[in-house]
Amino acid sequence: MMNITVIGSGTMGNGIAHVFAQNNYRVNLIDVNEIQLKKAIETIGKNLDRMVSKGSITEDIKQSTLANITTFTSLKEASSEADLIIEAASENINIKLDIFKQIDEYAPAHCILASNTSSISITKIASVTKRPDKVIGMHFMNPVPVMKLVEVINGYKTAKEVSLAVVNLSKAIGKIPAEANDYAGFIANRILMPMINEAIICLQSGVGTVESIDTVMKLGMAHPMGPLQLADFIGLDVCLAIMNVLYEGLGDTKYAPSPLLVNMVTAGILGAKSGEGFYVYTPGSKELVVSPRFSNTNN
Ligand code: NAD
Repeated sequence: MMNITVIGSGTMGNGIAHVFAQNNYRVNLIDVNEIQLKKAIETIGKNLDRMVSKGSITEDIKQSTLANITTFTSLKEASSEADLIIEAASENINIKLDIFKQIDEYAPAHCILASNTSSISITKIASVTKRPDKVIGMHFMNPVPVMKLVEVINGYKTAKEVSLAVVNLSKAIGKIPAEANDYAGFIANRILMPMINEAIICLQSGVGTVESIDTVMKLGMAHPMGPLQLADFIGLDVCLAIMNVLYEGLGDTKYAPSPLLVNMVTAGILGAKSGEGFYVYTPGSKELVVSPRFSNTNN
């Protein structure tokens, strides 16, 4: 597999494109939003600059990585020679089903179709294609150039040789694959999201402040980041979408999203990417400042 097509150039898509390009794969990166595509190339450039300044890569590798990426706004053009397509568009089932119907038509017969979905059923996505045996989940972690894990999700009809190819490819780009079967949230988000949701419920019901909840989980459980900060980093809209998939897919009220999370997303407070979540984010500042909305909450 040499030609990789990545659909969606947001938080995850640009990281996935970066990692494959740095490992000498030719990458076609597509987005419906041209401004976002430009931003993605800038982000990849900045991340590569940081790696050069730390001495982890050379200037030549930076240049060859950027040269390996071509940007597109047309799915058809970008998919026609792909060996593997990784979809990393928004976490919305209708968008994903529409994309998979199209790429099934445009991609060569041998091409594997993967989704970076955090929680949507791979079996459901595969069902709109004529090649469900070649559809698989390839769930990268954020930030992709740094995080080692790829959760490989086998849909109900995914062929064994397709899983093996994706496991081997993940290793070839320096990642560590872990396989999961296709149930809502797979392994990572089945366990992580209810913890984040419970942290938001604790905040909402006055069990603790933003700072105390995050401090307990960081210092008490040795988590590198508290659950509320992590929710901001993932995106509160992404967290809500995943909780809804768990709630609907597993049919248990224990997965109901916290009303506070629903309210924040409805109000457009989406975490770091919108400048505000449980914390406020000022460009250029690394200081973690609790949002004034929560600064009066007492234990
Ligand atoms: P994002 O909102 O940052 O980026 C999504 C991109 O997809 C946007 O640039 C948007 O313009 C583009 N897009 C939407 N519809 C499209 C279409 N039809 N064709 C091409 N591009 C289209 O989202 P993200 O955080 O990068 O998430 C992408 C996927 O990765 C989601 O399925 C999400 O659940 C999953 N994921 C996210 C994280 C995370 O921490 N954010 C971690 C693991 C997996």
